[in-house]
Amino acid sequence: MKTALITGATAGIGESFARLLAKNGYNLILVARDLDRLNQRKIELRELHPQIKIELLRADLTVASDLNMVSARVEKGIDLLINNAGFGINKTFTKSEFVQEQELLDLLVKAPMQLTHSALPAMLNQGSGAIINVSSIASWIAGGTYSAAKSYLTVFSESLHSEVKDSGIKVLSLCPGFTRTEFHQRGRMRMNGLPNFLWLSADQVSKIAWRDLQRGRVISVPGWQYKIISSIVRFGPRPLVRKIGMNIKMKQRQRKNK
Ligand code: NAP
Repeated sequence: MKTALITGATAGIGESFARLLAKNGYNLILVARDLDRLNQRKIELRELHPQIKIELLRADLTVASDLNMVSARVEKGIDLLINNAGFGINKTFTKSEFVQEQELLDLLVKAPMQLTHSALPAMLNQGSGAIINVSSIASWIAGGTYSAAKSYLTVFSESLHSEVKDSGIKVLSLCPGFTRTEFHQRGRMRMNGLPNFLWLSADQVSKIAWRDLQRGRVISVPGWQYKIISSIVRFGPRPLVRKIGMNIKMKQRQRKNK
């Protein structure tokens, strides 16, 4: 039986991946900070899939000792790594607190980089494995440090995909647009002005990513609406992309100040 480790597995996209992989017969290692919620997820998954093994790792991935503990488990060998845990900052850089910026970088960049580095030796050794980095459509816009961190993740995934594609290892950068999860509520972003057609569901996102991983794709953009938007922000003139990015960022800030 194959084993998958998912960071941020208690809510949103990570929780959806956990259900999808359990259905596909994977043993799971679920990582998040809230132990009660981790236990709750384990009970729910066990009820539906009694045959799979579920390990829980309570870890705050912005804390070096916790990240090292998860890395040590990854080094023992896993078949699938999903770097998913993340949050957003609802402030522009000149208004944000440094501590939060540091945590953003640690969770969105350092943790995926370190866990991927830990996962690869065993995967290379067995000549198979897969890594999904949950990035964002924001990785192509210039919308603050969240965009910058997600750019790292997308470019990192593309580079690694090329580096290991002949070793039997798949690497996918998942780039969703707005998805209904706890993300915006946690980041205190008021999203009520956003048209309905722009919202994806977490299950839609995980299902499409899973299909794209099997197809050996390097980038996955779920939803027809985001296929159009991503073409504009990826291939459109950069001054326009910068304008779109900062407009979104300023709107989020204005929403918060209302
Ligand atoms: P979510 O519903 O808020 O879930 C976030 C998950 O990450 C939770 O399980 C949370 O659990 C965990 N987490 C947060 N901080 C953590 C930390 N320091 N250490 C360990 N675990 C931590 O958010 P989501 O929307 O599913 O986000 C998942 C990924 O998708 C993120 O990388 C996000 O940037 C990306 N994304 C989201 C959207 C969107 O619109 N929702 C769009 C594009 C990309 P605990 O609180 O228990 O730790």
